[in-house]
Amino acid sequence: MRKKGIAVWLFTTLTFISLIHLIEALSAFLFNNPIRLLALYPFINQQLQQLSATTYLAITAASTAILWGITCVIAFDNPVETFLNKILSDAKQQAATDTQIIESKGDLFEVMYETVDSNTETLAQIKDIIRNIRAEVKDIEPIKATMEKTRTELSSLKKQIQTIEEKILFANILCPTCEKPLQPDFHICPYCGENLKISKSIMTVKDYK
Ligand SMILES: [Zn+2]
Repeated sequence: MRKKGIAVWLFTTLTFISLIHLIEALSAFLFNNPIRLLALYPFINQQLQQLSATTYLAITAASTAILWGITCVIAFDNPVETFLNKILSDAKQQAATDTQIIESKGDLFEVMYETVDSNTETLAQIKDIIRNIRAEVKDIEPIKATMEKTRTELSSLKKQIQTIEEKILFANILCPTCEKPLQPDFHICPYCGENLKISKSIMTVKDYK
C-alpha cells in the first residue's frame, strides 16, 4: 500500500511535468511562442532545443498520455480485483470466526457429551446395583420363608412342648409321703416305697398347687 502510494505520487508528478511541457508545446505550436523549459535540462538541453514545435508537441502529448495512463493503472490497480479480494478476505475471516465459534461450541458439546456419558455410566452402575440387590432379595426371600416356616414350626413345637409339659405336670401324681413326681401307673413309690394303691390321699399336681 505504501509502495503504491509512492508510485502514484511519482507518476502524478511526472504526468504533471509532462503536462506543463505539453502546454508549452501547444503554445509554441499554436502561437509560435519560444520553447524555454527544454533549456532547463542539463547535458541534453542543446539537443532538446533543436526539436521542432511539432515534434515537441507529439512527444509531450504521448508522454503525458502514457504517464497519465500509468498513474491511473497504479492508482486504481484493478479495483474490481481489489474489491473481490476484500470480499474474499472478509469471507475467510468470517469463516475463521465461525469455525472458532463452532470449535468453542464443540468443546462445550464435548463436555456435555462427557457429562451425559458419565451420567449414563453412573446410571448403568446404579442399575447394576439395583439388579444385584434384587437378586439378593430373591435369594433372601426363600430364606425368609424358611425362617418364617421355622418360626411357625418352633412356635407350634413350643406349644406342643407346653402341652406335653402340662400333660406331664397334670397327669403326674405326687407321692403323698415323699411328694416326688410319679408315673400314674406306678403302684409303689420308687423313692420311699409307699404303697400307692392303698394310699387314699393321692395328690395330683393341681391339688398340690
Ligand atoms: Zn414316696
